[in-house]
Parts: sequence; structure tokens; C-alpha cells
Amino acid sequence: MLFLKTGVMNKLPLLIMAAGIFFAIPSSVGAFSLVLDPGHSPDSPGATSCSGVEEYHYNDRLARHLYDYILRCNTPISVSVTRSPARSLRLSERVVSTGSSDLFLSIHHDSVQEKHLVRLARNGKSMPTSNAASGFSIFVSSRNRFYPESLRYARQLGRFLMAKGYRPNYYHSLDIPGEARSFIDKDACVYRYDNLFVLANANCPAILLEAGVIVNPHDEGFVSTITYLDAISQAIVSMCLTSDLPMNPTGAFLYQRLQ
Ligand SMILES: [Zn+2]
Repeated sequence: MLFLKTGVMNKLPLLIMAAGIFFAIPSSVGAFSLVLDPGHSPDSPGATSCSGVEEYHYNDRLARHLYDYILRCNTPISVSVTRSPARSLRLSERVVSTGSSDLFLSIHHDSVQEKHLVRLARNGKSMPTSNAASGFSIFVSSRNRFYPESLRYARQLGRFLMAKGYRPNYYHSLDIPGEARSFIDKDACVYRYDNLFVLANANCPAILLEAGVIVNPHDEGFVSTITYLDAISQAIVSMCLTSDLPMNPTGAFLYQRLQ
């Protein structure tokens, strides 16, 4: 496909992902339907890490880990994925069937502006490297039809990651060309980015997670560790399963209850 749709998936048997192909997860009545969208693709690989790995590999790895984690934990979450690792997909194709889902989660790994990159020789190649940014960040678009719900999910996820001790990336708020993004909730590292296509055009609540800054040697070292992949997966599952709990304007009540 691969844009597996939750409504279809509910009728399909056990979810297995093998040989780069995503299948369906068993769904329960009232299950939370989550669409994972691993950003970029072989044709449009995204950023290049400081060790020379293209971003889409990291996005695919996190999506795969999260997908397996949800299955392993036997949560009431039905999960689908917009593309298999080898598949390229246009932005419009990523959001075409999101209508009945509870959340569209776009998965990315971050870089920095060109002026903050230095090129270091490694293995005979020149690798983009920077210490100007580190950590996770989350984006929402106010053009999404479900902006309030999108923001709620984003704030929950940010707070769960903060509670686990992970570093927020404030780089995108710097007043430099290409950045200067507005914070909606700095305490959860949630930015407003209205023109991000998949966020603006998804027909359900939508958020984008930058899981780490892969041009930063420290971040690249930990974004693929099982500890971090499990922590992000746990935070995302918690976000889905607490989506109907009350949350005060600062998010503090929910944050304290779930620590
Ligand atoms: Zn990206």
C-alpha cells in the first residue's frame, strides 16, 4: 500500500510487520486509532546526520519500534502506517485517508540551519555537524480542522517527554532566518507551524514530532538506543490512552497525576 486505514484494519487479523510490510493490529471497541507517518522517503531523504545517515532511516526506525511496542503492550490502540520503509509517498497521499482517525503522528528527526553546520571529515566524507541544537520538539498547525485537539495531544506528549527528563529543543524559537517559530506551550516544547502540509491538511488531529537532532553527535548517539525508543513509545502510548482525561489550561494537573 501502504496507507492502512483504521476502519479497514479493524476487520483484519493480527498486526505483524515483517519484510518491510505493515499489516493490521487487532482493534477493540472504542480503540484509539493512531496513524504513524514516517517522514521523508528514499526519494526525499530529509536531513543527513553527522555520521552520514539519511533522516528517513531514523524516522522508519522509530515508527517501526513504536508500531511493535504498541502490539507488544497489547494496548487498545489500533495503529496504521502511511508507508513502508522502501516506499516513497507524496505529502497529499500521506493524509488522504485520515478522516476517521483519532490522531495523525508525523515522525521526524531534526537538523539546524546551514549557518550553524560545520563540515567535519569522517571516513573520507564531509559530514554536517552542529552543537547548536539538541532535543525533541513538537509542532501543530492552527490550519488543521482539529487544532484544539491537536494542541492537546502535542502538549500531553511534550509533558510526558519532559517528565522523563528529555531535553526540549528551543532552537526553532531563535530569531534567525528559517526559524523564529512561535511557542504555543514552551513547557511542553510545542511550536506553531501553520503551513506544514501534513498537519494543515490531515482530516483528523495531527502533530509532528522531531525526536532528536541528528546533526548533533550527542543526539545521534541516543536517538536509536532502545532506552530512548522505548521512552518515546511509552510517552506516545500514554498520550493516546489519556486523551480523554481532563487537562487544565497549563497541563499541570495531568502531568502531576501521571508522573
Ligand atoms: Zn524531517
